[in-house]
Amino acid sequence: MSRILLTNARVNGAEQAGTIAVRDGVVESVTDLPPAPQPGDRVVDLGGQIVLPGFVDGHCHADKSLWGEPWVRRTSEVVSMEQMFEDTVAQWAATTTPVATRARAFLDECVAFGSTTIRTFVDVAPEIGLSGIEGLLEVREDMRGLTDLSIVAFPQLGLLRRPGTDALLEEALKLGVDAVGGLDPAGIDGDALAQLDIVFGLAERYGVAVDFHMHEDGELGWWLIRRIAERTRALGMAGKVSLCDVFSLADPTPERLHEMGTTLADAGIAVAVGVHGLLPVPDVRTLHRLGVSMCLGSDSSRSLWSPWGDGDILSRAMFMAYKCYFRRDEDLEFALDMATTLGREAFGLPSVEPRAGDPADLVALPGEALGEIVVCPPRRGLVMKAGRIVARNGALVNSE
Ligand SMILES: [Zn+2]
Repeated sequence: MSRILLTNARVNGAEQAGTIAVRDGVVESVTDLPPAPQPGDRVVDLGGQIVLPGFVDGHCHADKSLWGEPWVRRTSEVVSMEQMFEDTVAQWAATTTPVATRARAFLDECVAFGSTTIRTFVDVAPEIGLSGIEGLLEVREDMRGLTDLSIVAFPQLGLLRRPGTDALLEEALKLGVDAVGGLDPAGIDGDALAQLDIVFGLAERYGVAVDFHMHEDGELGWWLIRRIAERTRALGMAGKVSLCDVFSLADPTPERLHEMGTTLADAGIAVAVGVHGLLPVPDVRTLHRLGVSMCLGSDSSRSLWSPWGDGDILSRAMFMAYKCYFRRDEDLEFALDMATTLGREAFGLPSVEPRAGDPADLVALPGEALGEIVVCPPRRGLVMKAGRIVARNGALVNSE
């Protein structure tokens, strides 16, 4: 593959523009010097755009997305979890577009926004069997070279309360999903320890990562964190366990937040921070100081459950920063770090800073300063995945 020189590139918002040389999917050099093209080089002038590491979306639900479908007019306010489940089952039956088609439409949008690494949760339930998993495995294959897609088999309707779901999770692991998920071990299944036994047992048997969605708040949530930390330590799974939607982190006392953060950090459990309309965002600056690994996620976007969300992880950083009332540039830049470098660290992925030797996963976008692009996310000028330009001006490209 010929070398690509990205010129007039302001790496991570540096005042001085430089040149990033990319060859065979890897950053060859990053220099302040003017470009010195060699025969065969392709020169792409970024015109002073800021260049960032490719974004990480640590929590989305591509199988649920209705991206590309006609707008669904919603007339009722679904309130209880049980109602949401009933609504989900009804919509599974009513949605005729194949899951792979809908998921791909959404994930293409995520890539055009700059997500070069995406983790999606895929529903598994007796009502739909493994149809979602099979669809997303196909999409994962088709999108190689566009984004690194990892799949978590997810018991959306509960595990114990839907007999047969544990066997489906195991079948999904045999088919090659990347991780096994749990959901509200106490709140939905009512027997938290039994759900933890099943999920951690599968993870141990198949050597995969574990994630729990955890909507239990208050003391129950704190109790669950300790149980999950115990198992993580006992199984030597530090760095392979994550939590989404940790409602109990939203508004604890300062003392309790310190205990929770220390417990998560010591056990090596990462948190995909949710940005929800009704809930406060956790005190992410304190959690980071305590050593907790964190990323952001676009969560359920234009889905069976919610009209909100567009797959743009930078917009998630904006919403988080807004809800946290971040005003200092240092804080705004931290929000951006959660979508990039810290997000990669949360999943143990190699750095894409970009520095010489890094995989060439990059996003270029116009703007004066990093804080500015968080407050007012601009259209992405260019997205590069593994050394190949995959999107320009907010849309995928096929032939570059
Ligand atoms: Zn979720």
